[in-house]
Amino acid sequence: MTLAAERSVGAGSIRLWRGDITRLAVDVIVNAANSQLAGGRGVDGAIHRAAGPALLHELRTRYPQGCPTGAAVLTGAHALPARWVAHAVGPRWIGGDGGEDALLASAYRTALALAAANGCATVAAPSISTGVYGFPVGRAAPVALAAAAAALAEPGTPLRTITFALFSAEDLAVYTAALTALPDPTA
Ligand code: ADP
Repeated sequence: MTLAAERSVGAGSIRLWRGDITRLAVDVIVNAANSQLAGGRGVDGAIHRAAGPALLHELRTRYPQGCPTGAAVLTGAHALPARWVAHAVGPRWIGGDGGEDALLASAYRTALALAAANGCATVAAPSISTGVYGFPVGRAAPVALAAAAAALAEPGTPLRTITFALFSAEDLAVYTAALTALPDPTA
């Protein structure tokens, strides 16, 4: 994996990588799911295609009520090279005054807490909410990176690397600038 950027936080690091998250053989990949957990477009569709139909079956069986915005649920990864998938539900952008930042932070925080609770060291996440859900990537990137940094700074966490899989060169550039500007959560 050729990293575009990396920054140490506590005993771990945040990494930026350009590519398809479904290829990553990490402990947990985070999915940008919808609250019905029904599969969808974008990264959700790519994850379901690569995992196979058993993923949707597991979601329907274990979480028939879906998952609220700002939360996440964990499943197996089925045919994916990862071990688990954390399905995190980010907010739809409604202009910025509807609590979108807090809901986005909460979606990442919950997914990373599930990974940590299961003893995972390596996580990969996409840029949640910045595709179909319309969250501006320049505003989402600092929120996403701050959530990752906070998780890595938790005392005793098993998390070691959180890799953001960015799909476009533009998104990678925005995340790279935001990672440089990110305050040190352990300072
Ligand atoms: P949301 O509905 O939360 O906005 P999307 O899947 O539409 O989710 O978009 C989230 C981000 O994921 C976008 O930047 C999109 O370009 C990106 N994306 C789409 N497919 C993949 C993939 N296979 N790997 C990583 N990122 C992806």
